[in-house]
Amino acid sequence: MSTLKSNFLKLNRLILFLAITATILTFLNSFYSNYEVQKEQLISQAIEVNRAYANKLADTTEVFLAASRQQLTYAANEVRNKMDNTAVLKHAANRLKYQTNSFNSVVISDSTGLAQAVSPETVNLLGKRLKSVGSLEALKKRKALISKPYLSTINNLLVFISAPIVDDQNNYRGFLGGTIYLRRPNILSQILGEHYYKNGSYIYVIDKQKEILYHPDKSRIGTFIQNNNGIDEIIANNEGGISLRNSKGIDMLAGYAIVPSTDWIIITQSPLQSTLLPLKGIMEKVILKTLPLAIIVFLFIWWFARAISRPLKQLADKAKSLDSPTVSDEIEHINSWYVESLSLKKAILSGVKLLQNQIGQLRLDADTDPLTGANNRRGFQMRLEELAAQGTTFSLLSLDIDFFKKVNDTFGHNVGDEVLKQQIQIMNRFSREQDMVARTGGEEFVLLLKETSQDDALLVAERLRTAIAEEVFDVVGHITVSIGVASWLDHSTPVKKVLLSVDDALYEAKKQGRNRCVMGK
Ligand code: GH3
Ligand code: MG
Ligand code: MG
Repeated sequence: MSTLKSNFLKLNRLILFLAITATILTFLNSFYSNYEVQKEQLISQAIEVNRAYANKLADTTEVFLAASRQQLTYAANEVRNKMDNTAVLKHAANRLKYQTNSFNSVVISDSTGLAQAVSPETVNLLGKRLKSVGSLEALKKRKALISKPYLSTINNLLVFISAPIVDDQNNYRGFLGGTIYLRRPNILSQILGEHYYKNGSYIYVIDKQKEILYHPDKSRIGTFIQNNNGIDEIIANNEGGISLRNSKGIDMLAGYAIVPSTDWIIITQSPLQSTLLPLKGIMEKVILKTLPLAIIVFLFIWWFARAISRPLKQLADKAKSLDSPTVSDEIEHINSWYVESLSLKKAILSGVKLLQNQIGQLRLDADTDPLTGANNRRGFQMRLEELAAQGTTFSLLSLDIDFFKKVNDTFGHNVGDEVLKQQIQIMNRFSREQDMVARTGGEEFVLLLKETSQDDALLVAERLRTAIAEEVFDVVGHITVSIGVASWLDHSTPVKKVLLSVDDALYEAKKQGRNRCVMGK
């Protein structure tokens, strides 16, 4: 039994293990999937916010550029027939520069590229020939333009927006242009700079050649994007959202949109890390909310598994004591509530029944005389010990058939056997419930009378002897018996003495001539 306990896991432990493992795995699984879903949600939300914001900024920039061109075109219309009037030109340039603050500087050129008016006057170009990239392009193409970013003669990185001047006779008279200095405070930085830079989010603007037109880090303006694994996709798609790793190796969630008239791309992005910061709080809430359910699940699994194992455990316990007389009843009372345990219970019950029947039969065989069915000497002696142990008084009649050898000799052994059986039947008639009839030898019998006095025992003996003497036995006719009588009334005397005494009495009865009863001393 001890090896059973040490080498094998107990069912209860297994069940507890099962319940805990199942609960933890379920809980972890739900935690993990929740985490992934929440994370994805936060990421796609951040990308979507950035995308929407980039779109809005692109729209605003487009509206600003359109308005700027409109202003230039309107002013070009005003001066187209007054190119010789320097006062008018100066006024127009100043108005463009100071009325809206759209441009860092404004210039009006004649058709040969000579600066006719400049604002502010600090820009030292009046009367000089314009050689910058934007001016040359405007002169050459003679139409409304927004230039690519370029370095001016005085080393300003700028974009140049221009409108042609054409007079009433349809002659080309020059152009009107405004600059935006990208590295200085400009209208673009005013539009984009309104962005609230929190959690490391920022905006920048590039053109299709990956040149940076705007960046919160001014030193990067005019440089080209490098080591950014998302930039090619951004340039290819013009508009959308993406997770990328920026040139500093930081994971970013970006939204981007194109400014149609210039092909500039506005990118707004926020670090993945700060986007995922709320995740910790969310997951703590998830844990707090899932925990009670996890505990309920655990208790349910545990309770249910125990209910499944209970009949098995009880059957196993009972199987250890199958020889107990009450074990059948106890097994019967086990609540085997599902099919398999019920089958097991039935199997054990029928096993127990079989076992107990066999034990009972063996006991009976050991205590019974096969010829007559009465108790044998062993059964008789067990009863004697029992009574002695209990201290119950009794009287004993010991019978021996007279001249039985002759019966056998005359009628044969089989007939003799029949006499023995009939003899038992007669004795049984004299035996009460609490008494015992036994065949203790070949043709020797005892009648044990419980709690019976010597006198009463002698009376019974006498009546029994008479009854036998009067009985007509098959084939044989009449026989007689001699009876010795003795009693055990004093607890202090050993039972053995009663046996000797009754033997003596029987011997005496024989000696006195047989067919009589003699009381032992
Ligand atoms: P007594 O009056 O002195 O008792 O004479 P008896 O002939 O009965 O002598 P005893 O008791 O010594 O003999 C017993 C006989 O009982 C011997 C044997 O042949 C016979 N006997 C013993 N067991 C059986 C049995 O199982 N069946 C039969 N038929 N006879 C038995
Ligand atoms: Mg005998
Ligand atoms: Mg005899």
